[in-house]
Amino acid sequence: MPIDPTLPYDDQNIFAKILRGEVPCKKVHEDDHVLAFHDINPQAPTHVLVIPKAAFVSWDDFSARGTDEQIAAFVRGVGEIARMLGLVEPGYRLLANVGLDAHQEVPHLHVHLFAGRKLGPMLMTA
Ligand code: 5GP
Repeated sequence: MPIDPTLPYDDQNIFAKILRGEVPCKKVHEDDHVLAFHDINPQAPTHVLVIPKAAFVSWDDFSARGTDEQIAAFVRGVGEIARMLGLVEPGYRLLANVGLDAHQEVPHLHVHLFAGRKLGPMLMTA
C-alpha cells in the first residue's frame, strides 16, 4: 500500500526498525549518517536501498526540513556507496519514490540504487 507522504514520521516503519537493529538487513555500508542495505525484493542484480539515519518521511520532507549538513552527508553517502560497489563505470540508476502516485511503500526516505544489467531508458512498471 502506498503511504501518504504528508503524514508525520511514524517510528514504527520497517526502515526505522532496521535502523534500530530490531529487524535484520543485509548491510552494504554504514557511517554516521547513512545506512545502505540490499532490497528484500530486488528488481535488478544490484538493488540497494540507501537511507539517512535521521527521521524523514520522504525526499519531500528531507529537502524541506533536512539541514545542509544532513543533505550533504546523504548525497555524498549515496555517491560513495555507488563508487564503493564499482558502479560508476558500468552505470547505475537512482530512484526515490514520493507518495501515492509513485507508490512509496515505506515512510522513511530511501533512495533505490539499481545496477548490474542494462536498465533501459526508464524503470517502468505497470
Ligand atoms: P518504495 O516503494 O517505498 O520506494 O520501496 C520500498 C522498498 O523497500 C521495496 O523495494 C521493498 O522491496 C523494500 N522493503 C520492504 N520491506 C523491506 C525489508 O524488511 N527489508 C528490506 N531489505 N527491504 C524491504
